[in-house]
Amino acid sequence: MSRAADALFRQTLERLERENRLRATEQAIVGRPGRLRVGDREVLDLCSNDYLGLSASPKIAEAASNAALSEGTGSGASRLVTGTRSSHLLLEEETARWLGCGAALFFSSGYHANVGVLDALAGPGDLIVSDEFNHASIIDGCRLSGARTLIYPHLDAGEADRLLSTPVSGRRVLVTESLFSMHGDAAPLEELADAAQRRDAVLVLDEAHAVGVVGEEGRGLAARMGLAGRVDVLIGTFGKAAGVFGAFAAGSDLMRAFLVNRARTFVFTTSPPPPIVAACRESVRAMRAASDLRERLQSNVRALREGLADLGFAVQREGNHIIPLVFGDEQAAIRASEILLDNGVMVRAIRPPSVPAGASRLRITGHAAHGPDDLRAALAAFENVAREPGLTSSTADGSKAG
Ligand code: PMP
Repeated sequence: MSRAADALFRQTLERLERENRLRATEQAIVGRPGRLRVGDREVLDLCSNDYLGLSASPKIAEAASNAALSEGTGSGASRLVTGTRSSHLLLEEETARWLGCGAALFFSSGYHANVGVLDALAGPGDLIVSDEFNHASIIDGCRLSGARTLIYPHLDAGEADRLLSTPVSGRRVLVTESLFSMHGDAAPLEELADAAQRRDAVLVLDEAHAVGVVGEEGRGLAARMGLAGRVDVLIGTFGKAAGVFGAFAAGSDLMRAFLVNRARTFVFTTSPPPPIVAACRESVRAMRAASDLRERLQSNVRALREGLADLGFAVQREGNHIIPLVFGDEQAAIRASEILLDNGVMVRAIRPPSVPAGASRLRITGHAAHGPDDLRAALAAFENVAREPGLTSSTADGSKAG
């Protein structure tokens, strides 16, 4: 290794370690839904995004393996060269039909979708208005676009509206998550849609954590609020509740044709492989039919929230499947996570840059697969966190409805 590289790697890692922000790729293997295998132990999964347990669905796995055997493991080229199979087009049609919109375009991941969509929609001379806690992929899309980006305080639709009125020579774009990934609160969609309409802005909505979980057939928050028709580009991922991989942008036929021609993260990458596409198609069917799983998820979330609040944690009793437990200090969040793992529960500590400085937390997620005994065991583990001196949770993370 060159001296320059050695110094760069070493100094960066040493600084992160001093700040308690060093991260590593620790193994966790999905066993049964709602469980993870860590080394030779099986622990409760209270942190993955596999909310419905579909990543372990035999039907979805079978669809993937059949496609691998009949169509191969790789698509061989980008979508616009020879990488489009009938299954890609069928998946897009089925996704659009599910969401009740004109068309959808499949991306390799939610990260690709957000970066590609924002870079396609805006450029120098344009304006993007973005929530302060939007996901890193949205932030990177704003940066890559070269557009002027103005950030509004979390969930503040009035300020979003005001920023959208900033004079610009070009286009205006408003972008938000629907359910926020690290905060678990919901964007004021109606007010934001009104602001976008008033200011003639394109509205982009990232439903990564709502698709599959929220609303009838898991169509997401905008659909549940009757606002889907007002969203210009709706982004969802197949990597979370869907239990697979990949993502989509859904909207009108025109939107799809525009992105096919303008989204560089769609054009310049190898097309998603047949087993993934087949698994996503099966997962769309599974999500549409998963009302039982969604109900179980909601009742588990209610029990978890109640139990955590009863233990004295700063958790709202009402809310969705993402439950932030903010400790503030990185070391405190790590310690809480270690206590839980010692007690058979996996919840990773989330630290900057995933959350703002001083807002390190446990991000607890509900899972449909957990039964009453699992929830009791989970809350018993949290009781040990509550007993640990110096570990105090707060709501001081800017969330409005943790
Ligand atoms: N948007 C949000 C809100 C997310 O939380 C994530 C994943 N953490 C993404 C987009 C990226 O999706 P993917 O994992 O499919 O790349």
